[in-house]
Amino acid sequence: MKIGIIVEMENGTVKDTNFGMITLARKNETATLTALVLDGVDAACKTALEQYGINSVADIRLPQADAVRLNPDVRARALVNIAKTLKLNSILGLSTAEGKDLIPRVAALIDAPLVMDCMNVDLSKGMVWTSQYSGKVLADIKLTADVTVMGIQPNAVAPSPAPGTAELLTMDQTTIVPSGLELVSWDQGAGNAELPSLSEADIIVAGGRGVQGKENFQLLFDCAKKLNAAVGASRVAVDENWIPYAHQVGQTGEKVSPAIYLALGISGSVQHFAGMKTSGTIIAVNTDENAAMMANADYYVNADLFDVLPELIRQLG
Ligand SMILES: Cc1cc2nc3c(=O)[nH]c(=O)nc-3n(C[C@H](O)[C@H](O)[C@H](O)COP(=O)(O)OP(=O)(O)OC[C@H]3O[C@@H](n4cnc5c(N)ncnc54)[C@H](O)[C@@H]3O)c2cc1C
Repeated sequence: MKIGIIVEMENGTVKDTNFGMITLARKNETATLTALVLDGVDAACKTALEQYGINSVADIRLPQADAVRLNPDVRARALVNIAKTLKLNSILGLSTAEGKDLIPRVAALIDAPLVMDCMNVDLSKGMVWTSQYSGKVLADIKLTADVTVMGIQPNAVAPSPAPGTAELLTMDQTTIVPSGLELVSWDQGAGNAELPSLSEADIIVAGGRGVQGKENFQLLFDCAKKLNAAVGASRVAVDENWIPYAHQVGQTGEKVSPAIYLALGISGSVQHFAGMKTSGTIIAVNTDENAAMMANADYYVNADLFDVLPELIRQLG
């Protein structure tokens, strides 16, 4: 069996979340694993992937112009070309905001079955396990097609090293042109490139309707910088255009499992909770003592976030 793993990068390095996904794919001991890298392979990238048992690294060369290189249609079609060339049986990627934009396009172009937000897979049996209906149902799904595509929930599996060496495959896709989809604008930092992304962060500082406006999110970014944390948001905050979608946590956003989740002015709807309930320690700050987030938190502060957050930032120095 041949498995392709779409590797996500952050600031030029391989995101740690990829290593859990590779560990999961390695459960199929007879499979060969190819890392599919769209953002350039340097020595550090190849070495990092080799530490987790990747057999080959495909350095997929795309057109250089950002508006073409970052176009999800171009990226998906390049991946499909490589999947056909390498005769891949399964393609795995991360169910992050980036992955949700890319992986379904790959499945659609191949006309392959797709399961997103997988918590576990057994590719030798074609079995995948995913949560549905805000985590109320665990679905066991059997995929029977020749080629299958899966999005793996970030941090669903702890990474386990298996050092080896990998062959480098340089794959030219520089002649691809976008078809039917023009990339008009993009924001790779999703608001702040200095901070870790949701899937990489040990701490997430998240805000909801209680933050009351776009400019007030700066307080959350200031706090996050002190903690090297990511900034998360409820769907209300995203729908209000206070912060980009890449920050949304929940059923229709990203599912996260940080060590600490600080929820500021978030009521704790089932849809939000579905995205962060596996966090190590949940801390809620809310003016409403009866908010669901308070009942589900390990610690809570029944207070105005505009009193708590500036004081926290001050205490963090
Ligand atoms: C199909 C579907 C999918 C959805 N997917 C998602 C999803 O992925 N993620 C998501 O988040 N939501 C999702 N939602 C929306 C969800 O149902 C809620 O509407 C949303 O989570 C509420 O966001 P909130 O907690 O920010 O706002 P609210 O529910 O309005 O809560 C605001 C909270 O802030 C508190 N507050 C107000 N002012 C302050 C202050 N100064 N200091 C401290 N606390 C204060 C209030 O007491 C309140 O508890 C989805 C809904 C549907 C139907």
